Amino acid sequence: MVSPFFYIVFSLTITSTVLSLAFFMAWKNFGRKPHALTWSAAFLAGALQWFSVLNAGAFPSTETFLLFENACSMALVTLGVRGHCQRTHCRFLPRNLWPIALAIYSVIVWAILIEPNVGVRMATVPAYAAITLFLSATMIIRYRKRPRPAEWAAAVSIYIVAIIQVAASILAFMQGPAGDESVAAAYLHFNFLTLPAGYMGMSMLILMMMASDISAKMKKMATTDHLTGLLNRRGFHEYGERAFSAARRAGTELSVIMTDIDRFKFINDKFGHAAGDSALIHFSKLVSEARRTEDVIARVGGEEFALLLPGTNLRDAMALADQLCSKIGASPMDMTSVGLPMTSSFGVAAISDKDKQLDDMVLRADRAMYRSKRAGRNQVDLESSQLMLAEDGTLKPVTSG
Ligand code: GH3
Ligand code: MG
Ligand code: MG
Repeated sequence: MVSPFFYIVFSLTITSTVLSLAFFMAWKNFGRKPHALTWSAAFLAGALQWFSVLNAGAFPSTETFLLFENACSMALVTLGVRGHCQRTHCRFLPRNLWPIALAIYSVIVWAILIEPNVGVRMATVPAYAAITLFLSATMIIRYRKRPRPAEWAAAVSIYIVAIIQVAASILAFMQGPAGDESVAAAYLHFNFLTLPAGYMGMSMLILMMMASDISAKMKKMATTDHLTGLLNRRGFHEYGERAFSAARRAGTELSVIMTDIDRFKFINDKFGHAAGDSALIHFSKLVSEARRTEDVIARVGGEEFALLLPGTNLRDAMALADQLCSKIGASPMDMTSVGLPMTSSFGVAAISDKDKQLDDMVLRADRAMYRSKRAGRNQVDLESSQLMLAEDGTLKPVTSG
């Protein structure tokens, strides 16, 4: 009868191979992220390690088997933590971890060849794995202010495997230099009880974390305008609806400015499409300079931009639009020898009690913007229904009742 451990090691060999392939495919198909390739190599080292355990008898001596098996484990652990460093751009660990891994491996070599020590030989890799796993999980959690659920799940699973490795390392070390049969049996039982589930669970959750990276990237691409880097129309609506609901709930101010570059077709026709693109980038920079952190700025059409200003009333939004209008008129784009003058027309609107959705106020700002166009361009208009000119010359909101 074959030992039950054979079946466990066999399934670990197969799952490591499959995981190596899965990460390789993730690397190939999803933007060739270096950490995906590193993790593919890590699981390949894992597969080799388990394969060598299955075929220990094929090695010329026990020492060569132990040296090979430990080298594979060290590679698995080092590549694993390297992948997390690459993914999180962590500067805490050195770029090249191999000298550290080699130094630790030399301890194992010493415990195999020079002064045989079963406890040290078997405890070193789990101890190294525990430290690197703790570091990896911490890197994941500290990577961004608010880790995504998939990142929490991966980090927690890594912490659990790290704790398992601490226990495995202590048990292994307790065997002493000459080895102790009963402790060795306890080590083996503990390892095979916890390792397959921990290894598989952690790997699947790391894969899920990569999937969440990809979906976040896709979402960002779907909501970003590639030319200016601003939000696109879809992004504007997504963030805008959220800001609209928040303003509704809290009863706070919210204003929107719509602006459309004047006679943009002329710029394209006279200077070419590339100059037109540069003009759009120039324009978006000018508008972005006025942005506060809570504001949402988007390119919602060809040469049409929208600014959503939470906590800002109509009068302040109008003042900002006036300021932008003058700034754009006074900031010609640098062309080879001449500055290319540009102007834009603006429309401003603020949230009203009747608005059911963001589009209601955007529509009013749009209409105001077209009034600016009709009135001669390079000016600001606002939804007149909401403001009146007070006797002192200031704009005052029309209050109902
Ligand atoms: P108006 O003052 O009435 O707004 O006139 P306009 O010429 O700006 O308006 P019109 O809608 O006639 O022309 C907009 C032009 O913007 C037409 C289109 O070719 C150009 N456009 C749209 N998207 C892009 C882009 O991504 N790059 C460049 N270079 N041009 C673009
Ligand atoms: Mg235009
Ligand atoms: Mg237009």
